[in-house]
Amino acid sequence: MDLHPRLLGDINGDRMDDVVGFGQDGVWVSLSTGTSFTTAGYWLADYGVASGWSTDLHLRMLADLNGDGRQDIVGFGGPGILVGIAGSRNLAYDPDVFGHELMHIYQAYSTHALDPFLSSTGLNGLGRAIGEGTADYYSCSVLGDPNVGEYTAAGIGLAFLSSLANDATCPDDLVGESHHDGQILSGALWEIREQIGAERTDAAVRDLITMIEPGATWSDLVELLRAELDVTPAESEAIDAVLARRGLPSCSPLVSIEPGEARAVWIISKDDLFDPATRSLLSWSQYPAGIQLAVTVPAGSTTLTVTVTPAEDQELDGITLHVRAGTPVSWQAQQGSVTVTADASFPASAPAIVDATPGTYYLSLAATGDVDGFVEVVATVE
Ligand SMILES: [Zn+2]
Repeated sequence: MDLHPRLLGDINGDRMDDVVGFGQDGVWVSLSTGTSFTTAGYWLADYGVASGWSTDLHLRMLADLNGDGRQDIVGFGGPGILVGIAGSRNLAYDPDVFGHELMHIYQAYSTHALDPFLSSTGLNGLGRAIGEGTADYYSCSVLGDPNVGEYTAAGIGLAFLSSLANDATCPDDLVGESHHDGQILSGALWEIREQIGAERTDAAVRDLITMIEPGATWSDLVELLRAELDVTPAESEAIDAVLARRGLPSCSPLVSIEPGEARAVWIISKDDLFDPATRSLLSWSQYPAGIQLAVTVPAGSTTLTVTVTPAEDQELDGITLHVRAGTPVSWQAQQGSVTVTADASFPASAPAIVDATPGTYYLSLAATGDVDGFVEVVATVE
């Protein structure tokens, strides 16, 4: 293994390739002037070999940006950022990719609170959503434009991979996948940046990452963000309006749906979950999705039917649907495994038919086989 890799990439957004090195003592950068490089200067006084930044410890968070499931195009593992190819494009030349992945390094060294973990309602993916949302925010703020990965996207025929000039809201766009869910946050951060400027918003984002607590909820996040932004009363009103329009203060992993409404849910891959304590892959018998759906069976109805359809050409064999009346399906990690409390469980490969009395029913999907990706859930009542 090369302990001191060097990478080329435009890290200051001037469209000239700078040299980034990961050395014994940290990260150093030589900026390109167009005809030569500046003397290497320390950019980050950490993340070097001397501070334990090694491949075996930090090989994680592969892949990114557009959440299309291709986990091999970019990522990082110590002692540096590992990049690959998308179409005809070398991702080392994409400043958004660089900024995004550097933010992940900052996150990894600032906190473990962004790791996913099991909450009583399923996978708590808020940390990862914060990770992706703030990584996109950081690269866009450094470069001063809201579109992510234009250079890379051009190699696969797109204008950009994602954009902070989005209108994503909770709960409509909350699916339990970190890149998608992170767009709700990154869109809000970009709007706030337009209100109060990059400097203060950037600083609040950096502080947010070091201060967020494991197990935080979306409303905890909003509270922390407001505190770190330290805004005037006049600014506060505008920022609260942004946060409210995004649905963030009341954002919850329990998502209400109407009977007959088609709802996207992300089934997480079992290869994508680490145990923060042991830094190894979790080995559970099933992996719950990040959101549960709640549907109300009205008076006069006696049957609830739930149909799960894969969004792409994906197997349903490895997906289980858990149903519980009145209270959310409950998840608990226990001695290296996971237990679920539900009234009934069904293979998702056929419609689940439940004899129902009027009231709220909670639907919790889980990967029980080697599957991941989007599914569409429809609950009908008769
Ligand atoms: Zn990422």
